[in-house]
Amino acid sequence: MPDLHQLIVVANRLPVRNVSDRDGQRWVSSPGGLVSALAPVMTSRPNASWVGWSGAAGRAPDPFVHDDISLYPVELSRADVQLHYEGFSNGTLWPLYHDAIAEPEYHRTWWDAYVKVNRRFADAVLEIAEPDATVWVHDYQLQLVPGMLREALPDLRIGFFLHTPWPARELFLRLPWREQIVRGLLGSSLIGFQTEVMAHNFRHVVPRLVDGSEITDDIVTVAGRPTVCKRHPIGIDVERFSAAATEPATSTAVEALRGKLHQPRTVLLGVDRLDYTKGIAQRLRAYGELLDEDRLSAEDTVLIQIAEPSRTNVNGYADIRSEVEQVVGEINGNYGTMIRPAVHYLHRSHDFDELIALYRLADVMLVTPFRDGMNLVAKEYVATRFDDTGVLVLSEFAGAVHELEQSVQVNPYDTDGLKEAIEHAVLMRPDEQSARMSAMRQTVAASTAHTWASSFLAELEAE
Ligand code: UDP
Repeated sequence: MPDLHQLIVVANRLPVRNVSDRDGQRWVSSPGGLVSALAPVMTSRPNASWVGWSGAAGRAPDPFVHDDISLYPVELSRADVQLHYEGFSNGTLWPLYHDAIAEPEYHRTWWDAYVKVNRRFADAVLEIAEPDATVWVHDYQLQLVPGMLREALPDLRIGFFLHTPWPARELFLRLPWREQIVRGLLGSSLIGFQTEVMAHNFRHVVPRLVDGSEITDDIVTVAGRPTVCKRHPIGIDVERFSAAATEPATSTAVEALRGKLHQPRTVLLGVDRLDYTKGIAQRLRAYGELLDEDRLSAEDTVLIQIAEPSRTNVNGYADIRSEVEQVVGEINGNYGTMIRPAVHYLHRSHDFDELIALYRLADVMLVTPFRDGMNLVAKEYVATRFDDTGVLVLSEFAGAVHELEQSVQVNPYDTDGLKEAIEHAVLMRPDEQSARMSAMRQTVAASTAHTWASSFLAELEAE
């Protein structure tokens, strides 16, 4: 008989990854927002648990305890990963939920695998849940889990948080399995979205799909059972970012980088997963045109673009890589010198310390996705600007824009607007930079990862 748990987090991935080195194989905590957001609330409670995939296809490891959290690995075969994760999650839902920037693919075999894998996650929860446990399910890969849990154990407290956007009504209605997804989500008593628009879009698609549903304020009621559907934006571990930013080692690293870059007057920075939602090529083109028109000069300006490799097995990702690399090549061909490229393009993952140094180095941070649930990079940049210098250029279509109102806001589809925003940011006077950054820093500090997790759970448990 497995142990029973009162708090269960369910996410596609466990908060650990397996490393093997000279000391053998072991589990280490994964870097990443969700883990650091949830760890404090989980370790403050007895007997908290996490259900998720280990990251390796094939036989799942036995349950184990890591950092005081009981971990329950769910088994996924290579075919499950291809059809559920790479297929339905990232080939259907990801593009659909990001405004169909890339064409979503609809395959019945992917959907069948999505149902099957969601069922496996739900079964793993049901094996370890106290009858009135709190279960917090995360993200687009697991939207059927709340409904499956509710059916089996009606007294569970089930919450769901969607980290991605929820799309506009007419877009969502394209999904052949739209009703199943909505009914699955409505197994929750609380659903959190990154913005009010997304919560509104969800609430207002329900009556189209579920007979007899009613909406009152932010509550959707179906068959007498209410689901609160509201904005609950995710934050970052502000303390960790702001503390690292003031470390002496960080200023040493920043000075070293400035030296290697030949002391440019202005450093522009982009930090993104290499994803078609991020608008990387468009942003680079805008920068290239500013150089073409002599509105910026590669003599004293440099753009650093981090493109973290991502989802290389999913359709569309190889194309975006070629497109970005072609634009980088063109700009450097036109404006780079033997010792000084105009764009430093780094197609690899950077760790926390490297990112902190880059955020501190950057005079202008370019966050210009076509669509993004939140965009944590925008908040991380702000959290490191303890001296209130620096300018954030932020897309109107990133969830973060609803909080970071003092950013330079831009429509990433509008190349001329993007150029004006970048130019405006580069030329912004220090007093204006400071007024904007100081306001944004206060906003980021007031709503952290920890307050996000604890207030979501408090609301779920007060139901
Ligand atoms: N990140 C990282 N190394 C990299 C690039 C990004 O650790 O090389 C982190 C970054 O600090 C942030 C996250 O990855 O916490 C990206 O989150 P965001 O919300 O910006 O975008 P997502 O990748 O979730 O779409």
